[in-house]
Amino acid sequence: MSVRKWMRRDLQDLEVYQVQPVFGVKMDANESPFSLKREVREQLAQWILEEEDLQYYPDTDCIALRQRIAAYYGLCTEQVFCGVGSDQIIDCLSKAFLEEGDTILAPAPSFSMYGLTARINHGEAASFPLDENFEYDLSALMAAYEQKHPKLLYICSPNNPTGRLIKDSVLKQILDSVECIVVLDEAYGEFAGADHVGWLAEYPNLVILKTFSKSYGLAGLRVGYSLSSPEIREILDTVRAPYNLNTFSQMAACAILGRPEYEERARFLAEERARVYRGLKTLETVSDLKVYASDANFLFIDCGIEGVAERLKERGLLIRAYSGKMSQYIRMSVGTREENDRFLRAMQEILTAKEK
Ligand SMILES: *Cc1c(COP(=O)(O)O)cnc(C)c1O
Repeated sequence: MSVRKWMRRDLQDLEVYQVQPVFGVKMDANESPFSLKREVREQLAQWILEEEDLQYYPDTDCIALRQRIAAYYGLCTEQVFCGVGSDQIIDCLSKAFLEEGDTILAPAPSFSMYGLTARINHGEAASFPLDENFEYDLSALMAAYEQKHPKLLYICSPNNPTGRLIKDSVLKQILDSVECIVVLDEAYGEFAGADHVGWLAEYPNLVILKTFSKSYGLAGLRVGYSLSSPEIREILDTVRAPYNLNTFSQMAACAILGRPEYEERARFLAEERARVYRGLKTLETVSDLKVYASDANFLFIDCGIEGVAERLKERGLLIRAYSGKMSQYIRMSVGTREENDRFLRAMQEILTAKEK
């Protein structure tokens, strides 16, 4: 007997989220190349040795972590919501706001979770195009907004996978024009000095998403958070699974928030991004490659040919590849200096090799 027939019919064609097996130099998921400082790892190890309360559920309200985050941004604790990665918060947004037939609007291309969680929560996903340089285009966005009347409008800035920030003037015009929840996903904000926390006071419909997975290098512990009006936070709390964030993750995030090495690391990675960008620019003159300017810890590249991902893999480098009409594009996450040099050398070899 197949139980498949009982699965929701509208989800029958949905595929499992695929991740490539880990391999070589990992430049495929925009993680940090840096691990936790020894001092922090020792602090966490000490905590494990002394902690006697792991048989109890975690603090379901993440009070200590939310207080830390609120103090860091000068907000009140009621404005902070924590999730198992910001992925879970995106899911909570869909759960809380979408009714059957409601739409979310997001850039294309962008982060797949916006549309995926919308679909799973009975909503529909619509998109607006970026311009030819993958920059935000206000008129294209507003045209899609007028047509789709979304409940949730996602602005990913810097946008994954294309890399650019939205201009403050454009963001302001959007916020002044739309009537819906505006989700500003700043997963990569630390690499660009993005700072819109001050805007929350003026826009009660604004939600800012942040994560410990990228610049803080804590992807393995899955901690994300949102900053918003207390009212939105309360709505998110009503649909959240109790005890969502485990004790250890709450504790580790508290230990690293605001530590000075993270600002240095973000600055270093932004400098390295600029260096890799310049290196790839020189390849534009000898190949059909085009590299796009980025404000994040990754670069989006039109290789001009297909199959570059496989050839990078032969050289021990794992990057993010795309399919369909994007099959010539790759996204590489900036790594350590040595890793970036390896990537640049490999790209040079692949793109300037004479056809066999
Ligand atoms: C990585 C990423 C996230 C969230 O990651 P979590 O690990 O779930 O916090 C959110 N938005 C974008 C655009 C991302 O690239």
